[in-house]
Amino acid sequence: MASEGNIAPAIGIDLGTTYSCVAVWQNNRVEIIPNDQGNRITPSCVAFTEDGRLLGDAAKNQTDMNPTNTVFAVKRLIGRRFSDSFVQNDIKHWPFKVVAGPSDRPKIVVNYRGNQKKFYAEEISSMILLKMKEVAENYLAITVKNAIITVPAYFNDSQRQATKNAGTIVGLNVIRIMDEPTAAAIAYDFDRINVDTNKKNVLVFDLGGGTFDVSLLSIGHGNFVVRATAGDTHLGGEDFDDRLVDHCVKEFKTKYKKDITGNAKSMRRLKTACERAKRILSFSSRATIEVDYLYDGIDFSTRISQARFEELNKDLFMRCTDQIEECLRDANMDRTGVDVVVLVGGSTRIPKVQQLMKDFFEGKELCMGIHPDEAVAYGAAIHAANLNGQREKDVQNLVLVDVTPLSLGVGVNQGYKDMHLVVPRNTPIPTKKHTSMETLYDNQTFVRFPIYEGESAETKYNNLIGEFTINGIDPAPKGSAKINVWFNIDANGILSVTAQVESTCIKNGIVIKQNGDLTAAEIQTMIEEAGRYKAEDEKYKSRISLEDLAEKLKSLAMDPGRSSSDMKSMKEAAENAIAWLERNPHADIDEINKRQWKLKITFPILCEEN
Ligand code: AMP
Repeated sequence: MASEGNIAPAIGIDLGTTYSCVAVWQNNRVEIIPNDQGNRITPSCVAFTEDGRLLGDAAKNQTDMNPTNTVFAVKRLIGRRFSDSFVQNDIKHWPFKVVAGPSDRPKIVVNYRGNQKKFYAEEISSMILLKMKEVAENYLAITVKNAIITVPAYFNDSQRQATKNAGTIVGLNVIRIMDEPTAAAIAYDFDRINVDTNKKNVLVFDLGGGTFDVSLLSIGHGNFVVRATAGDTHLGGEDFDDRLVDHCVKEFKTKYKKDITGNAKSMRRLKTACERAKRILSFSSRATIEVDYLYDGIDFSTRISQARFEELNKDLFMRCTDQIEECLRDANMDRTGVDVVVLVGGSTRIPKVQQLMKDFFEGKELCMGIHPDEAVAYGAAIHAANLNGQREKDVQNLVLVDVTPLSLGVGVNQGYKDMHLVVPRNTPIPTKKHTSMETLYDNQTFVRFPIYEGESAETKYNNLIGEFTINGIDPAPKGSAKINVWFNIDANGILSVTAQVESTCIKNGIVIKQNGDLTAAEIQTMIEEAGRYKAEDEKYKSRISLEDLAEKLKSLAMDPGRSSSDMKSMKEAAENAIAWLERNPHADIDEINKRQWKLKITFPILCEEN
């Protein structure tokens, strides 16, 4: 398909905790790209089976049968440590296994084609991105290279880098890591850019499956300036589901004196039923949670009211308003300064969440005009076209200014216990900030620079994100060597820090976790492995198609109008094909395709529509 100005289009991918969505700017508008099942959003789910790997809907649809090898919600792991309390809390609820890998990085353990395999979160994310890339490529009939991937505004440097790496692993050129609320604001405002020129303050409230983001933007004349962001990387629909699950587990225990929490399959089936009930409660005052043979042959059924659901999640809903207050405080604005409230994310369909927003903003109209599941990908596609130089006047008008989600600084004084703030949170990016430091002791010949992110004055409460040392300082009384330090943050929110001794020009620095925690060699290995997995998927699909052809031939052979010799040869060919597949589990894809082709040539009826 031709693109604007003959430039291969760049895509926008909303890589969500529970669902992902891909969109493209084409034919003067944004198109949300449906997947092979015709769905506009795809589950962020990867499954491993005895036969092969499944992605998206195919993976989600078999979750209940294969819970320990069906991986979801990896966005909650990406860029985090295994010992992180959030990770520890999450993995308690997951049926698949997560263990500590090298450098305390979580690894997901699955059984794939009879072998135990361990994957980093970025590898699983790369598989979801592969699916989204393929969805786009099938639709556009070209190879897609350039993409924007969105992340919660609250993602730190290491989570952003790990997401970027996931794109690199599947051969995407990630032209920008973009904040989800900014993308949603663009989607909201795009139609109005050239109509409504008044500057507006827009609050984007994005409550999805696993993350909550709130951002305040000033929009006008095609400029989108993020004034402040806040949020919680661990709050969303999955938590509401878990509250329902806990409620049912307790009820089951009371009624039947049995604890189902140790049974992964029962827990997964219960969670599916709870999620369904939660959705029903968005438009009905009551719902039934029902699971046949939930545990020990016992059927489980319970009724739940909207009011009870709201009660179970009350504290979680209230956490949303706390974050809005923080965001407004950072932007130096009170709630009356907000002109528009945009709701994004599947969980904003919950009536209580909408009511809380209405109450908080004292009756202000909530904007739900853009599809909550698609808004982020929609805005990302517009910005992708903008950066990709796809010639389109409206698209090129956009100017985006994002901000740093967390404060950044250096540990100073004895034991590096105090945070010397260099870049306050909510500073517009890209940015370069300078600070100068001095030696603390007489004859000090080296200085360590531990770099932290976080809001505490004490470094022990912040997150150490990297460190480096400057050596070779000439011995001298304390305070006589001056060191210039620069913090440089690029448009993706990725930080590099450099320091230079003023008198000697001795210099050192780091790009903080330029590769997340991965080395270039590790990324290369993952790229190669991703290629191998993809080839195995294709081989698996090809085996299935040959099997399907053989089955079709067998059933066509049974047609009573067919001569007995035709019948015999068709049956024989079909059985031979199946036997050949069984004898050759490792046959290569060309051989399998050749067999398909031969069957079709010999029996052209196979190519006819049913
Ligand atoms: P997102 O990450 O934006 O795709 O949001 C996905 C989350 O929205 C999941 O937790 C869904 O269960 C939740 N969700 C989708 N539709 C509804 C609904 N009608 N009522 C409540 N939650 C919903």
